[in-house]
Amino acid sequence: MHLAFVQTRCQAGLLAPEVIVEIHLGSGLPGFQVVGFSESATRQIRGRVRSAILSSHLKWPDFNITVNLAPTEQPKEGPRYDLPIALGLLVASQQLPPSSVAGREFFGELGLDGGIHPFRGSLCAVLAATEAGRECGIARHGAPEIAALTGGRLIAAPDLLSLCAQLKDACPKYVRQETALDHDAVVYPDLSQLKGQPLLCKALEVAATGGHHLLMTGPPGVGKTLAASVLPGLLPPLPEKKAQELLLMQDVVGLAASDTPPFRAPHHSSSVASLMGGTARALPGEISMAHGGVLFLDELTEFPHAVLNQLRQPLETGHIRVNRAQHQHQYPAQFQLVAAMNPCPCGFAGDPDRRCRCTPDRIRRYCQGISGPLTDRIDLHITLQRPSPEFLLMKSNGEDHSSGHVRARVAQIQRRQRDRQGCLNRDLSGDDLLKACLMETDTEGWLIDAVAKLKLSARSAHRRLRVARTLADMSEERRVAISHLKTALIFREAPPGDDASAI
Ligand SMILES: [Zn+2]
Repeated sequence: MHLAFVQTRCQAGLLAPEVIVEIHLGSGLPGFQVVGFSESATRQIRGRVRSAILSSHLKWPDFNITVNLAPTEQPKEGPRYDLPIALGLLVASQQLPPSSVAGREFFGELGLDGGIHPFRGSLCAVLAATEAGRECGIARHGAPEIAALTGGRLIAAPDLLSLCAQLKDACPKYVRQETALDHDAVVYPDLSQLKGQPLLCKALEVAATGGHHLLMTGPPGVGKTLAASVLPGLLPPLPEKKAQELLLMQDVVGLAASDTPPFRAPHHSSSVASLMGGTARALPGEISMAHGGVLFLDELTEFPHAVLNQLRQPLETGHIRVNRAQHQHQYPAQFQLVAAMNPCPCGFAGDPDRRCRCTPDRIRRYCQGISGPLTDRIDLHITLQRPSPEFLLMKSNGEDHSSGHVRARVAQIQRRQRDRQGCLNRDLSGDDLLKACLMETDTEGWLIDAVAKLKLSARSAHRRLRVARTLADMSEERRVAISHLKTALIFREAPPGDDASAI
């Protein structure tokens, strides 16, 4: 019988649906066709697979070869089907027994010399195959990491010939799952580097603890970028599911695997597709690569309106839908937003040493450049000043302000928040928020007074409450008290010259 079936998978977002490679060797003039593929794509596949088989001292079957990838409606592209096609040809031409490919799936591109190369998306494919209870044959490069991350039974080989030898073996050698991720590979700047700015340190710890988004306003050179890059180092390790989602996306776009909370800082001139996702192959964008970590938008006012408006959906739902001609995928995008902007177009408004030359009207228009619905989602606002020079020589007072210590505290308090309300304080709203705050009557009275005096909108008042809840959590108190509300008012969006301490 000149027929063979080999199992593999294609890529659809972060999913890897099953594909069966069917090979038929027919009589008639020797030829090679792949059903549904263009002539040039077919020629390329034939070129690679034929060279790989011949370079491996195996025989190219001189038949009229038909290759079909079923089901036909799945998106199929790229050379990822080289290896399963080659194995199918070897089985159909009786150079390999059918039992050697049964119950197994195969993933890999072939080089002309018969070498097996990994491709983007291997991790998704192996994970899906492992969940389906099948073994996998893959490239040797990167196999130990994939085995450790998926827990799969993998047969890995550097080239087609040695893979065939292993497949014929009744007890093949499986890849050992020993290489875990290097957790020290990503190191963020330490919080102690910001020791001259106690308010900023406090804001960062509050942001980390309650998961609050943060907007920093301040003149250039005041350390906004440094502050933003400190934040991911304050976040506890990612929960297993989030880490897996992140690893799959890194694999799909070809980034090095890391399950440390990521830090992504796309430039304001980046295209909408590279930020939100949806390049030609509908791949995830920067906001998805920040999943579980920090997305830093420096010079927020320079980002196009279209981008800032599109951020609202992921900020609300924690995922983004990416639509491209034939592909529609959903990618996770649950990130903590840190944004930074200058106080005015020239950057020196409110600076005691430099003169701002902007007209009030220009400053107003500049601040209006960021959309209201976006700032509505940002609980913490902080205005930064340049730290005084004496702070450069200040010695840090013990280890209490290191990122490691804060991270341990943050992890503990986040657990408490989840036990209490099933989410972080950032995600509290409406009745749940009021219930979680447990305010005494006099605290409520104080809040109502403050809201009236400062003319806060209802949304802004809710943002203060969320921050106050986090501050109370940080001082291990069950109820939100007036002192927490007072501190929370410091971190609000204040018009220039306004002073919250007045109340
Ligand atoms: Zn100015």
